[in-house]
Amino acid sequence: VNGPPVDRRRVRELLQQCVQCGLCLATCATYLATGDETLSPRGRLLLLAELADGEGRLPETLEPSVREAFDLCLGCRACETICPSGVPFTLFEAAKTLAERRDPPALHVVRPERMGMLRRLGGAAEAVLRAGLGSRWRRRLEPLPAARRAARLLGSRPAAPSDRELVRLLDRLTGRRSTLAPPPPAPPRERVVLFRGCASGDLLPDSQRRLRQLLAAVGVAVDVPDGQVCCGALDAHGGQPARAARYRQRNVAALAPAVAQSRLLVEAAGCGLELRTYPESLADRVVDAVVLLADLTLPPLRELPLRVAYHDPCHARHGQGIVEEPRRLLRRLPGVEVVEPEEAEVCCGSGGPYALLHPELSAAMGRRKARHLAETGADLVVTANPGCLGQIRDALALEAPELPILPLTDLVWYAALGDAGGDTSCTVDMGQEY
Ligand code: SF4
Ligand code: SF4
Repeated sequence: VNGPPVDRRRVRELLQQCVQCGLCLATCATYLATGDETLSPRGRLLLLAELADGEGRLPETLEPSVREAFDLCLGCRACETICPSGVPFTLFEAAKTLAERRDPPALHVVRPERMGMLRRLGGAAEAVLRAGLGSRWRRRLEPLPAARRAARLLGSRPAAPSDRELVRLLDRLTGRRSTLAPPPPAPPRERVVLFRGCASGDLLPDSQRRLRQLLAAVGVAVDVPDGQVCCGALDAHGGQPARAARYRQRNVAALAPAVAQSRLLVEAAGCGLELRTYPESLADRVVDAVVLLADLTLPPLRELPLRVAYHDPCHARHGQGIVEEPRRLLRRLPGVEVVEPEEAEVCCGSGGPYALLHPELSAAMGRRKARHLAETGADLVVTANPGCLGQIRDALALEAPELPILPLTDLVWYAALGDAGGDTSCTVDMGQEY
């Protein structure tokens, strides 16, 4: 999964592994979006080959033209997964570290400690726009140059519906009428420690609560130790390694004692990958929420006549090798047909802070992803990472506004609800559609 960091003084022997087959081009989102081979894995390798000196050392700084090629790399690792010669992504990571902008101003907006405030302000602003412009507000603002940037920022923030909105949406798609009571808790058989995460815990708190209800229903008790903070991924990829290291230290202190006896449950694929770079005592305990659920005995589930497309977060698929489990979990939901989009292995263009740093390119990648998802004929898209959720939510609003996206665990929670009798269902008017 995460190999040891590449010694960038010894890149030449790694560069020689590339046999120039070009297989990686079709999986690289930056190449697919631009058609520019210098923005492909093979092109980036050729640049590195030119840069490395006779002993295979990279320079301490990069020329602006070269810098851009690595700055625009998403770090998605799709090239590493496909490469038949085993060229490691960490080779790009070494050059990316040289190319990355230091402490970009855009990242001051999305500090971990501001996530709760961003959720409240973003939700309020979106509600105002929906009230004024209707549910297609995002499409109406896109052609307006003055409003476009702000609309994209708002539309691409990770957001999930409340219980009522979720039930209303899925009742409409499935033709069911659901109760709002979560499945009853079962006697605990296992305990897990939850890594709360700033994106999952503060931007998607309703989804996190629903996951906990679902786990309680299958006898998994969840402990949430105090003192945990952001995993550090945003800072690690935003040119702030010292701040990322401080977060790591605090998390190790808060979580290590608790995970000695339990697994460490992580909802966001991005946090999961970052936590796997922590000391072994903690990294080895990480379990993705989707992987955990795929292997558990689930509570009784209702029939859901839905075509569902799963979007693979790169940090799950390429970073942690999680490919089969989400599909297996989906196939365990009675009635669900899993459909596969074209280019499932290609990044959606979210990439942590990438969408803030490179908004135009990121948006183009998102829209390509949204078109592929819509072409499947799916009724619903599900995923397992807050960044992908926001990015694709925004792109779908422009490309296929009738196609919703949800966290996968929210769909499982809905499947575990009971059916409503009489008029007690949640089909009453609840205002704006999610
Ligand atoms: S897939 Fe691997 S070997 Fe083939 S061109 Fe890309 S990096 Fe080189
Ligand atoms: S990590 Fe992703 S964006 Fe970067 S070169 Fe590889 S496939 Fe392309």
